[in-house]
Amino acid sequence: PETPAAEALQHAEVAALLPRPGADSDKYRRGVVGVVAGSARYPGAAVLAVSGALRGGAGAVRYVGPAGDAVIARHPEALVSAGPPSKAGRVQAWAVGSGLGEDKERLEDVLAADVPVLIDADGLRLADEAALRARTAPTVLTPHAGEAAALLGWERGDVEARRLAAARELAGRTGATVLLKGSTTVVAEGRGSAGGPGGGPDGGGGAPVRINPTGTGWLATAGTGDVLSGLIGALLAAGLDGRDAASVGAYVHGMAGRFAPRPAGASDVAEALNAAWRDLLAG
Ligand code: AMP
Ligand code: MG
Repeated sequence: PETPAAEALQHAEVAALLPRPGADSDKYRRGVVGVVAGSARYPGAAVLAVSGALRGGAGAVRYVGPAGDAVIARHPEALVSAGPPSKAGRVQAWAVGSGLGEDKERLEDVLAADVPVLIDADGLRLADEAALRARTAPTVLTPHAGEAAALLGWERGDVEARRLAAARELAGRTGATVLLKGSTTVVAEGRGSAGGPGGGPDGGGGAPVRINPTGTGWLATAGTGDVLSGLIGALLAAGLDGRDAASVGAYVHGMAGRFAPRPAGASDVAEALNAAWRDLLAG
């Protein structure tokens, strides 16, 4: 196969894609995000994903899972429940998987819904490839190199050495948008953006792979990926397609890593999303 076309994300391009509430906005127009994350063992992943979703401009965040008390303690504006996601009420996009443990039931309930879904971390391990391919609503996968290697059946080192090819291959296999995290985050499209043609068994929508220029090694700390998952979930709920939501999310998250105090924890990165957003809105 030929080397895929790739392009660096531009600041002005990202700024133009950033959702802005209009005078007639309401919380549903801004987008309701559902977060299915966290477990008794990893309640913090739920809190961080909800933080990312709230600071991603969501109109409302519904958290569904066992860490509702921890979520509410940090974010009283969140709506929490502990039953099946399909019974949680109106949701315009889901972010699922961070710290999820073995909760395959909730994952499958989310994947069955015909709304955009972001899948991270444990969700990537539990998801069935055929179920991903069968989805018609936008689907975004956010593996780091180790998670991508497990999904592809490659060595981790080969993913690191051939990041563009790895992302494109996984996008082709699953039909999803793939955001491969790491020192240089890249976004590959499975079916072509905005409903365009593409895909096929050997995969890859026609869209060029996007490369995020804003990352920083200061982001390499536990929990920052969980923040990213909620952030991209909010962008999907606002109506961005999978490719744009992933690209804008990576860009803004990288900027937050630069604006956050150093050294930063993942909570600091979530808090710095405001500053990143403000900088982009100022144009
Ligand atoms: P996770 O691997 O899920 O913990 O997510 C880590 C986050 O930090 C992702 O958004 C990565 O892209 C980012 N990250 C990790 N290491 C680096 C690095 N060396 N340079 C830039 N970003 C990084
Ligand atoms: Mg992670």
